Amino acid sequence: MADDLTPAEAFGALADERRVEILRALDATAGRASSFSALRTRVDVSDSGQFNYHLSRLRPHFVERDEDGYRLTAAGRQVVRAVAAGRFTADARIEEFEHDSRCYCCGATLRVSYRDERLRFHCPDCDREVLNAGFPSSGVRERSPAEVVDAFARFSYHRVSQAREGVCPDCSGPVAGRVTENVPSTIDKPAVVVFTCGVCEGAVWTSFGGLATYDPRVRSFHRDRGIDLDDGYYWEFAQCLSGDFTTVNSTDPWRSTVAFPLGDEICRARFEGSDLVAVEPSD
Ligand SMILES: [Zn+2]
Ligand SMILES: [Zn+2]
Repeated sequence: MADDLTPAEAFGALADERRVEILRALDATAGRASSFSALRTRVDVSDSGQFNYHLSRLRPHFVERDEDGYRLTAAGRQVVRAVAAGRFTADARIEEFEHDSRCYCCGATLRVSYRDERLRFHCPDCDREVLNAGFPSSGVRERSPAEVVDAFARFSYHRVSQAREGVCPDCSGPVAGRVTENVPSTIDKPAVVVFTCGVCEGAVWTSFGGLATYDPRVRSFHRDRGIDLDDGYYWEFAQCLSGDFTTVNSTDPWRSTVAFPLGDEICRARFEGSDLVAVEPSD
């Protein structure tokens, strides 16, 4: 079965330029099956036996065959996407610029830079890194610095949104959330939530405060008091990045509470493990 391919075998199957060309040619058919001869013409390998050998190395994991011809599998499509996304951009970099978002701690305008496929948010007044997060270099291409930050905000929002609903944003596999004390250095918290995919083992990190901002009850608490949580970036909310509003009530099992004070009212989101189990007030 296709699932039985080891990583070494998968890389071996792709370790030839012509095989990657075959995948790209199949991708260009937009899901329609391609016959052996049509495919060979597109890839331009004149020796039929050699072409057949390369094609066979891609089956069944990356290419499938039925009575209509050859098609990409989901894994084959992912290879084509990854090759396309990584093609131009290995050392994309943006020099530090002033971005129109505020330090959650002191309110100063943040400075942002991008290198090594990481976006870094620095507060000049607190003189510290507020956020340091991975962002693929394809997200930087053909965008102005401000557009890069907006793209990053949407990218992060939707990754966490999908993960918390149990779907891996990378491969659509099932993900499970758990609490971990292995906290990224720029997050000032005792513990965070990590969603890990059971298929591709990709991980999506977020904080209890970050998770709470997705909850409709937390959102309506703010909306009813004139605050739309969509106005602003998540890193501007102290609940997302700092530990100041998060209380760990117990560690075995993990129970924690995130507070959102607004005027003289407070909304509290209570977690058991990585699950948000209650919001108070509950109106
Ligand atoms: Zn600051
Ligand atoms: Zn996955």
